[in-house]
Amino acid sequence: MLKLSELFPTDLIVDGISTEDSKITIRLISTKPNCECPNCKRKSSRIHSQYQRGLKDLPIMDKKAIIRLQTRKFFCDNPNCETGIFTERFKSLIKPYARNTDRLNKYLEFIGFAVNAEVGSVLSKQILANVSPDSMLRLVKAAEPAIKTDYQYIGIDDWAIKKGHKYCTLVCDLVTKRPIDVLPDRSYDVISEWLREHPEIKFISMDRSVTYNGATKRECPQAKIVADRFHLVYNLSQTLMRYLQRRYCNGILINPELPREEQPQITERTFLFWNPSKLSGKDKDIL
Ligand SMILES: [Zn+2]
Repeated sequence: MLKLSELFPTDLIVDGISTEDSKITIRLISTKPNCECPNCKRKSSRIHSQYQRGLKDLPIMDKKAIIRLQTRKFFCDNPNCETGIFTERFKSLIKPYARNTDRLNKYLEFIGFAVNAEVGSVLSKQILANVSPDSMLRLVKAAEPAIKTDYQYIGIDDWAIKKGHKYCTLVCDLVTKRPIDVLPDRSYDVISEWLREHPEIKFISMDRSVTYNGATKRECPQAKIVADRFHLVYNLSQTLMRYLQRRYCNGILINPELPREEQPQITERTFLFWNPSKLSGKDKDIL
């Protein structure tokens, strides 16, 4: 049979449980005879004082879980250490000064990344624990990024913070389809510096930027440059538009329901609305 103590690190044991309507409170105490000074690493068993820490944990059987953790303070007896008194640290699950357990924070992070802080706070209150929008935001900001360095297939494009004024470069992992970096601008030096640190790249998808192209050829000569689908279609439509404007400047019928003199000019958007099936036989001939 599962014991509640098994749900906690081995240096903690359950000292008592109490339940209310929607809440379960678990009292934990430490089993360690001594504790390591966080500064000089010398072990100490001389207790200065103890107090109770309150932490939120993941819900248990539809009840919100609160931990009351008996925490000790120790003297550091190392005469060369500046830390006179230090607070007990635990192996895992509970970080110093934390108000939530690590496993609760992990789930709060999931919610925080999926929705905004306000909605995340409301959701968490219903299903996990009471967390303010500010706390939700702090969790997301403090979350460690997934460390991955072997980006073999990436996409790179510029991104406007303020259109016409300030542009950055967005780098995406095409395997996970997630952004992996935002570079401060789209200059040759900045792109080159980033690419230099990633010699593992095999394919880079990009537009026809001379800067991106040049930096890739210099820093990642092994990588194949691939025209991305958006820019391929976009460039094709621009070329087609220029051809039609030049070839059929007076003859093409864009909207069959309008008389010829009211026909709109050919623009890039023309291709979005143009439906050849609506053209009459005569107009098809013109095209
Ligand atoms: Zn010390």
